[in-house]
Amino acid sequence: MSTLIVLILLSLPVLVGLSLWRSGQRQARHRQDLIEAGLRPDQRQAILAAVPLIARLPEDLRPMLEGRVALFLEQVAFVGCDGLEVSEEMRLSIAAQACLIPLASDLWYEELTTVLVYPGAFRSRMVSRDGYVVREEEVVRLGESWSRGQVVLSWADVAAGAADPEDGRNVVLHEFAHQFDDLSGDTNGVPVLAEGQSFEEWERVFLRAYMRLRRRAETGRASVLDTYGAQSHEEFFAVAIEAFFERPGDLREDEPELYAQLSELLKLDPVSWR
Ligand SMILES: [Zn+2]
Repeated sequence: MSTLIVLILLSLPVLVGLSLWRSGQRQARHRQDLIEAGLRPDQRQAILAAVPLIARLPEDLRPMLEGRVALFLEQVAFVGCDGLEVSEEMRLSIAAQACLIPLASDLWYEELTTVLVYPGAFRSRMVSRDGYVVREEEVVRLGESWSRGQVVLSWADVAAGAADPEDGRNVVLHEFAHQFDDLSGDTNGVPVLAEGQSFEEWERVFLRAYMRLRRRAETGRASVLDTYGAQSHEEFFAVAIEAFFERPGDLREDEPELYAQLSELLKLDPVSWR
């Protein structure tokens, strides 16, 4: 082999590495430009009209939300199902609600590619195992979150959830809480914690609150947390996120430690937004 060929072969990994690094730099720059550009005034108005919760955001958080919404709209493909045409208002409403969760966090929905939107509740196949018996049944759902970057939503329930920002029910917050949870590699109720946040504390607080909700669900007593969260750790995390944004005062009163952990996780304090 000639010296020239050896030199070319030796320098290939360096050249490939350099080109990947440059493309990564370009992507980061493009992402930063989107975040800084934010939204047009008409888009801002459409969000405020559709999602009253956004009107409560303090001034300093608004540009942060707009930047993330702009990034979300560029990154995510919206697909209308069963004949639904996804309008810009729908995209803005979904994006604004979804972006509340990582609003002040260092984390982002890196893997998210697609949001499928049905006009209303939709049918989905559910496979369950009981020992050797595998059952497949059709269930009706308002939303679903998949671990490979897809979320499915019922538009009727997205709109209803956004219209009442105080009932503690919000299908977009619920499904995107699962996406946020999944950034750790598993949708299991243990998200990537904030820098410096203690895992031992998180686990202690989270498990106790989860057991309290299970007992309440068994005895039929009401809770600020939807008892749907009593079925598993990941559902508990999702309903806790719904309550954190929609009933922060009640959550802080009933579950002060859980509220504090979520507040540390997301670097937000929705109680002070009122
Ligand atoms: Zn869920």
